[in-house]
Amino acid sequence: MEDYEVFDVEDLNDFLEELDKQESSYNNNVNSEVEIYGITSNVEWDITSIEPDTREEDMFRKKTLYDLFRKRRGYLNVTDLVSPLWCEVQQEYYLTKNLKKTSPQMTKGSSVHQHLEYETTPPTDRILLDKASKEEPWALKILKQIEGLHQLSMNGITREFPIWGFYKDSLIMGIIDEISLGQQGKASNEHKDIRDYWHPAAKDIYFTDNKTRFSNTRPSDSQVYQSKIQVMYYAHLFLHYFPSLNLQSTKPLYVKPNELNKETERTSWFSSFFKCLNLDGHKDLGEKFLEQSIRTIPTIPEDEFRNNNSLDGLYKLCSKISRRLRLNISDQNLGIAYWNPQSQQLLYVEKFDHEPIVLENCYNRENSFWRTMREPIGVPPNEVFKCRSCEFRDECWWLQKKQTLPISYE
Ligand code: SF4
Repeated sequence: MEDYEVFDVEDLNDFLEELDKQESSYNNNVNSEVEIYGITSNVEWDITSIEPDTREEDMFRKKTLYDLFRKRRGYLNVTDLVSPLWCEVQQEYYLTKNLKKTSPQMTKGSSVHQHLEYETTPPTDRILLDKASKEEPWALKILKQIEGLHQLSMNGITREFPIWGFYKDSLIMGIIDEISLGQQGKASNEHKDIRDYWHPAAKDIYFTDNKTRFSNTRPSDSQVYQSKIQVMYYAHLFLHYFPSLNLQSTKPLYVKPNELNKETERTSWFSSFFKCLNLDGHKDLGEKFLEQSIRTIPTIPEDEFRNNNSLDGLYKLCSKISRRLRLNISDQNLGIAYWNPQSQQLLYVEKFDHEPIVLENCYNRENSFWRTMREPIGVPPNEVFKCRSCEFRDECWWLQKKQTLPISYE
């Protein structure tokens, strides 16, 4: 379940929005029972310790949040850049108090994700064999990518695709809920000329984030905004991951190479990735790992794995498979799909275009939240509804500073 790293933001906010609607039963206590669409739930914020060696007294605060909480790991998750869009002050509270929020609804949402993943990707028994190896966890992710590309090419869809790369100066990691392919335009469904079989038409590529939704109404603009930014990051990362991707597009989808960080200009981005995390791309992953690769992905010839049993080799193999895809970027190729967690039925899909300037502005803002000493920014007056369900509202310094903000209803 931990793999579904992107789930919590939408699910939690969705749930909190429902809580807001039931404010008549609100009694200043978030640890209470509420009924939502016939389900009685104990709204309880399980508090678990994360990063146990980072203690609160260490941190106020001579270092940036990145240095305190992410430097050891070496990268940000996509959710790290998206969650503060809801409220930076709340995000800082979670970090500095070593708190992690969970709820029964979030668990329910993870099971929806797992259900969707198993629809397209049967579970494998691939495991981490050498827990001391720094390279092997990333090699396992690349095997998952190889599997995903194969599914994309054969079935037109794959789910829970791990992805990472640079956005400007930041190494970012995420898991794309769903990538799918559609025929480019309507006419391309039919081959009118036998030569088309040698040069098959490019297919439109779509990136979708799957969210659970407890009501049939559209989520708040704040929630939709976060989700859109999340999907834009995924599209950016995927389309930069494979520099030799067979891609047709005239759209200004990405940060241009000369805007990427200097290190990635000089060398391939994958070398920069190795350097960032101090990984040895050429290190042999060992006989047991090789046997596991061959056994769990039988569609790849054994020799291919044997000749590429390193991080660098697996990445080359993965890039080679990606070149079989001929892709086009169509309008509205990004989407958010809302699912009913009870019936696991699709409620509706919201489609939109990549907006490079919007993404860059969001990145600049939240990157500075992580990497500078600037003060986090709480909710503006028109979004104070977020505070009603926030577990830090009684102690929140932002609210105390902005004493004119009401917490009660309008
Ligand atoms: S009370 Fe409001 S401003 Fe304060 S952390 Fe919570 S959501 Fe942010």
